[in-house]
Amino acid sequence: MSLQETTELALESLRPGDDGYDDAARVFFATGEPALIVRPRDPDEVAAALDHAVRRGLAVAVRSGGHSPVGHSTNDGGLVIDLGRLDAVEVVDHARRLVRVGGGARWGQVAAALDPHGWGITSGDTAAVGVGGLTLGGGVGWLVRRHGLAIDSLVGARVVTADGRVLVTSADEHPELFWALRGGGGNFGVVVSFDFVARPVTTVHHGTVTYALDDAAGLLRRWRDAMRTAPEELSSTLVLAPRVPGAAATATVLLCYAGDPGATAADADAAIEPLLELGTVTEASIRECRYAEVLEDAQHPPGVRLVGRNTLVPALDEDVIAEVVGLHEIPGPPRAVAVRSLGGAFARVPADATAFAHRDAEAMVVGMVVLSGASTDAEVAEALVPWRAVAARGTGSYVNFQGSATLEDVAAAYPPATYARLAEVKRAYDPGNVFALNHNVRP
Ligand SMILES: Cc1cc2nc3c(=O)[nH]c(=O)nc-3n(C[C@H](O)[C@H](O)[C@H](O)COP(=O)(O)OP(=O)(O)OC[C@H]3O[C@@H](n4cnc5c(N)ncnc54)[C@H](O)[C@@H]3O)c2cc1C
Repeated sequence: MSLQETTELALESLRPGDDGYDDAARVFFATGEPALIVRPRDPDEVAAALDHAVRRGLAVAVRSGGHSPVGHSTNDGGLVIDLGRLDAVEVVDHARRLVRVGGGARWGQVAAALDPHGWGITSGDTAAVGVGGLTLGGGVGWLVRRHGLAIDSLVGARVVTADGRVLVTSADEHPELFWALRGGGGNFGVVVSFDFVARPVTTVHHGTVTYALDDAAGLLRRWRDAMRTAPEELSSTLVLAPRVPGAAATATVLLCYAGDPGATAADADAAIEPLLELGTVTEASIRECRYAEVLEDAQHPPGVRLVGRNTLVPALDEDVIAEVVGLHEIPGPPRAVAVRSLGGAFARVPADATAFAHRDAEAMVVGMVVLSGASTDAEVAEALVPWRAVAARGTGSYVNFQGSATLEDVAAAYPPATYARLAEVKRAYDPGNVFALNHNVRP
């Protein structure tokens, strides 16, 4: 690693050939070859990096945890702004549970820092995922029905815009920018810190229930009905596991019950019990643990290409169930299908309150195909053909689980009125489209 001292740019940076460059050029879903990777330590350094890129016409990739499903946080020949040095988690106001989190922090760090206070912020399920990318797309996790999306706990952000200004945004300051940041992705600037109001979260009941998959449609139906009457303290996802030739098919419900601080184990048991009666249970493992322990580590499996798509369905009706089961049963490369229940606090936020607009969705269906690492784009496209029938049942998609960013993907993520409003914010804050490596909103 070298400290590049030039008249124009003086900050920690890596160029091809430097020690550590290869690791720094790689993210979860992609390996790039950027001309320059910088690690700013404050907003002024972010502004200097942006100025450097704009002057030289370099494409800009912004990285928090590096888990972009499209590999957007690296690039070829451009500049990467790696926010990993901006990862502080600071309690700003204890009485309000107001927490300031650096734009390059990861959710595992946040959960660990808040645990001693008996607090948590609803985020995702994986410790190494970045606060930046997950929050800007929405952020759906173990507490989604209890506390909504991650953006529903966001009350402010500090943003470095393409022209180098450092703006404080909230419901009162630059409110349209603040609206756009909550679901509009990395389109509008570099967020150097996020202000969240944490929730009281101590222990949760968390685990899995695995079933023999002899009647996938029936299982999905019974799970849907159970979740329709479940308390919103309970969030769960039903996963139809990839079929393995010669092995019995299985499905697993991943669940998390997060009660009020006064909730008892009996409350948790009563909420979870119906999920133990959905079919032939082959294994169940549920334990009470700290919320911070729930976030997992995940590595990209070597030698494979993981291709993920998602759609949000207003109702998990018979047509959707039939398509989900049909997709899972198609012969060919292994496919997992995960159906995540929504509702509760997620659904109480008005659709136009944030740039994530799909608040009426009962569930999110995520399809994942496992292909060989050597697969061509044509093979990926072919493997995705069966997914289209499921996507046609949805009313939109979630950018953070969408492994491509075509115009069609952007249109699915943002309904027309949302897109028009985002484009207006884009024109106001990034008219030159400096932030283009994302589900891009054109100025
Ligand atoms: C293993 C795994 C588990 C996941 N689990 C969940 C989950 O449970 N729930 C969920 O909602 N999502 C989940 N995701 C999806 C995740 O939200 C997205 O991949 C998200 O983009 C990751 O954020 P990141 O900061 O790690 O990624 P990065 O690749 O660093 O960032 C993604 C994009 O966000 C933008 N960006 C990031 N930080 C900033 C910033 N500070 N300022 C401006 N722009 C920024 C950039 O455009 C960047 O390209 C998961 C992904 C993976 C790979």
